[in-house]
Amino acid sequence: MSICPYCQKEMDAGFDTCPHCGVTMTYLYKCNRCEQEFAATGILRFCPLCDADLTDQLN
Ligand SMILES: [Zn+2]
Ligand SMILES: [Zn+2]
Repeated sequence: MSICPYCQKEMDAGFDTCPHCGVTMTYLYKCNRCEQEFAATGILRFCPLCDADLTDQLN
């Protein structure tokens, strides 16, 4: 469980849109392979720069 920063309600981790208020989450990622940090709205499964697997960064 995580808390939506906009409506403060609980939402399931891994959702890219809050089911309560509909806002799209922004996630921060740091790629372990190319060491780039980037923000993305919604769920990213692969690094857009080097295609490394990012699924272990979801929480
Ligand atoms: Zn919300
Ligand atoms: Zn990368």
